[in-house]
Amino acid sequence: MNCFCCGGEMPDARKVKIRRWRDLDPAVIKPGSAAYMSYTEEMTFRWAVVCAGCYSTLDNAYGVARIAGQSFNISGSSRAGKARTLTEEQYREWQRREAKKLGVDLQDD
Ligand SMILES: [Zn+2]
Repeated sequence: MNCFCCGGEMPDARKVKIRRWRDLDPAVIKPGSAAYMSYTEEMTFRWAVVCAGCYSTLDNAYGVARIAGQSFNISGSSRAGKARTLTEEQYREWQRREAKKLGVDLQDD
């Protein structure tokens, strides 16, 4: 599995509610436009896995950090060391459950 922030391979991960932090420039982004839709899409918290290094960088008072040239923000419920640790196997299990919800059947290789 790969880290949502740095893209690095990791043996185990922290499961966090995270979003990419983007600055909104109202001059170029208008509500209803494609740019605005992608902005709100990215600014929505979602579950993802990050490596231990990125988690410790993100786990600060504001839950905001700049990693690999991008800003990320983790939700309050994922801060203060509260993020669950997932092994590769637990991660796959979680992905399978998510896929099932979407009606996709992931085969084990
Ligand atoms: Zn990372």
